[in-house]
Parts: sequence; C-alpha cells; structure tokens
Amino acid sequence: MAGDDVSEQPHQPHILIVGAGFGGLGCIHTLGQLETPARVTIVDKKDTFTIGGTWQFVWTGRLSQDKTRWPLSSAALPPMASLMLNTSVSKLDLAAQKAILANGTPIAYDQLVLSPGVVSDGSRIPGLTEHALNLYCFDNVVSQKEQLEHFSQLAEAKVLASEKATLLISIAAVPYQCPVAPWEVAFLVDAKLRATGVREGARIVITAPNEWPLPDPTRPKFEAEMSAKQVEFFNNKQLAALEPNLAHYADGTSVAFDLAWAVYPQRAPDFVRDSGLVNARGFVPVDLQTNRIASEALQLLQIPAMVKAGTSHVPYCIGDCCWTMIQPELPHPKAGEFAWQMGANVAKQIDATCRGEALPPPDKRKGSCFAEAGNGTVLLLEPDLSAVLADPLNGKPDARVSEAPEAAKVEWVNKHLARIFNGSVAPFIS
Ligand SMILES: Cc1cc2nc3c(=O)[nH]c(=O)nc-3n(C[C@H](O)[C@H](O)[C@H](O)COP(=O)(O)OP(=O)(O)OC[C@H]3O[C@@H](n4cnc5c(N)ncnc54)[C@H](O)[C@@H]3O)c2cc1C
Repeated sequence: MAGDDVSEQPHQPHILIVGAGFGGLGCIHTLGQLETPARVTIVDKKDTFTIGGTWQFVWTGRLSQDKTRWPLSSAALPPMASLMLNTSVSKLDLAAQKAILANGTPIAYDQLVLSPGVVSDGSRIPGLTEHALNLYCFDNVVSQKEQLEHFSQLAEAKVLASEKATLLISIAAVPYQCPVAPWEVAFLVDAKLRATGVREGARIVITAPNEWPLPDPTRPKFEAEMSAKQVEFFNNKQLAALEPNLAHYADGTSVAFDLAWAVYPQRAPDFVRDSGLVNARGFVPVDLQTNRIASEALQLLQIPAMVKAGTSHVPYCIGDCCWTMIQPELPHPKAGEFAWQMGANVAKQIDATCRGEALPPPDKRKGSCFAEAGNGTVLLLEPDLSAVLADPLNGKPDARVSEAPEAAKVEWVNKHLARIFNGSVAPFIS
C-alpha cells in the first residue's frame, strides 16, 4: 500500500500506529483481540523486532546476534492490519492529521498512535560518542563483546602487575530504558572476570546522575549484590565530558578508566521532536491514564481545534517516547512491559471510541525487568504502578525485587514472542 494516500478510501476509521516495537505491537495485538471495527496501518522503519533483554546473551558470548532478532513479517497480525516495513515516518502534520513518509507520501489518519521508542543522543556530552560505547544499541553488541574480551586480557595483565584496570559504566541521564540494565552489565562482567580468575585485576564502577535510578525498595538488594561482587557505585554524578581514559563530572570530580560504556541521554526521535510535541526533557508529555498527548503540547502548537473537538482526535503517545509522572518527582519508568500495556490500554480506548461506547478505566501497569546476576540467577524487578494509574493523585507506586533462575528471563522473552509471532518463530533458547 506504499504510495497510496489512504485518506482517499473513506470507510472505517483509520488508525495509524508508528513503530512496531513493544508498544505498537501491544496496541495492534489488543485491537485484534477486540475485533475493533477499524483499519489499522502499522509502520516501522526496520523489518525486525528485538528484545533488549536478550542482547546480554550475545555480548557475553552465549549466543550469536541473529538469535536475538525476529522478522516482523512473521508477526501474527489481525486481518484489519496492514504492515509497512522499512518505511520511515519523517514528519507529522498534526493539524491535517497526516504522517509524511521519508519518500514524501502522506498517510492520513483518524487516530494516531506514536510508539517510535527513543534515540540515544550522545551529542549532548562532549567526548561521549568518541570515548564510550553506547550500551543501548543493538548494533553495538558485537563491539561490546570484543571490548569485553580485550578488557579481560587487560585485567589478566594487571593481576600480574598487582594493578587494576577500570571499567566505567556511566548513566549519563535519567530516565532511560530498563533502569536495571547497567547493573546487569556490571554483574555479568564481574562473573566473566571471576570465571577466568582475573577479577582482582579489575575495578567495575557505575555512576548515576541522581540519587538512585531504580525504584527505592530495590536499593538494599542491589547494594548487597554490589557489595558481594565489589561493584563500586557513585551517585549524583552528572557526566559532563569525556576525554581518552578520563570522565569528568559536573561536581568537578573525575574517574580514570580503561574502558567506558555508557547509557547515552535518550529522547524522542527527530520526527517527533521536530513536530514540536516534546517537553524540555525531550519526550512527549501525555496523560498518565489515557496516554493522550497532553493538551498543552497541542495548544502550544496552535492546534486548539483538536483539543476543543474533545478527546477523540488527540493523538496518543506510548512507550519509551512518552513522558508522564507517577509522583511529583518521579517520571514513569521505561520498559517493554509498560510499553505493551500502554499500547493495550490505548487499543481499548480506540475500540470504545469506534463503537461509540464509554471509555474503559485504565488497566493494570506492572512491569518485569530482569538483571542477570551472573551465576545462573536473575534479580527480577517488578514495579507496580496500578494504584497510581487508578488514582493519579493518591495512588502510590510499589516495587518488588526478588531472585529467580535465569530461566525466568527466557520464559519472559518467550511469553512476548508467543504473543507477537504466535508460534511462527522458534522459541528463544539461552
Ligand atoms: C539492554 C536492554 C534491556 C532491556 N530489558 C528489559 C526487560 O528486562 N524488561 C522490559 O520490560 N524492558 C526491557 N527493556 C526495555 C524495552 O526494550 C523498551 O522499553 C521497549 O522496547 C520500549 O518499547 P517502545 O514500543 O516504546 O519502543 P521500541 O520497542 O524501541 O519500538 C520502537 C519502534 O519504532 C520504530 N521507529 C522509530 N522511529 C521510526 C520512524 N521514524 N518511522 C517508523 N518507525 C520508527 C523502531 O524501528 C522500533 O521498531 C530493555 C532495553 C534494553 C536496551
């Protein structure tokens, strides 16, 4: 259907979903279950789906990279859906309700669901892209593996010299996807160095720009794990600049390193930013319960007609790209499970709108984030925001952290593969 201006085929409402990641797929999956009377187009600039929680199997040498991505053309989509792969949206014309593809083709919609994830933007910190590998990039996992092998050799040499090589894992900005991932990296590197008997030749250092980037109740468990594994953690360290082997922080301190890996600052992709929808933090502000783009953003863009017309045409933004607070000082955490649930929640609202029914109350909002602890176990972090979603003013977020076997993570991956591909791809095996 590429090349068509679908506005010229008036019949059922046309829903456009931008992004076939966790959020977009959660939305189309639920629209299919509800048999929503609508046409749906789902556009993605890539043709594969990946799960960040599988990349560790690649850079620690347990699996090849091709085992951690799956063809989107095999996704089990409902009959109402058209999938456009290798197709980028490059511009939004919100007033005209059209998305413009990179080849200039406009796609008109009645309802827009933005789920394009985030981009890592290293340009905000001098020296970051030159001197630290971005940990949140699928294309970097093979380099990460090579760098780890080189670092192990360096640690071995340092053991002989009674010195230590330093691996710096620096979180450059919050919020970021899957907040436990930097700890998982530290614990897996620790395990690898111990397995080869060179751990005493290395320091593993994590820095974060705030007090504690994970939900508060997790802190004792993670601190105990860091202490047992001799992983050093420095909080309230805002990364200011990097030069070869030296990281500078805003408080005037610095950390010397032999290898630096970083969580780059993340933000909405360019086409969303250029549409004017983002806040000062670079994300799209939305209503917590509905994921409708907050009306101030549309007012600022002088699209008040859309706001005045009621909610039915205000676009949605879900997943990593959106910004909403769960407490005055606490942004909604970013995770695949949450993106999927936001997509499902939005699908239910679209379904009710298409049928002229009352909007449903928001559903559950409970995540599962896995941090491999390096000895066949995982630390399972389960933030539960359901109470906040039900009552944004008085509800309190909850979070549990527990230990589970590595198989729990594999099961979680397979749960999502089964939902998305319905048996048309082989199960993930570690
Ligand atoms: C290392 C790592 C480990 C993780 N572990 C976990 C975990 O254990 N549990 C968990 O719940 N989450 C985990 N996550 C987080 C999870 O992967 C993200 O939160 C999730 O992918 C967000 O879903 P999304 O739909 O918002 O974005 P994405 O899944 O990133 O999907 C966005 C899609 O939009 C497409 N797109 C972008 N721009 C355009 C455009 N201009 N035109 C068309 N298409 C576009 C992209 O190609 C992509 O397919 C992890 C992430 C990483 C990196």
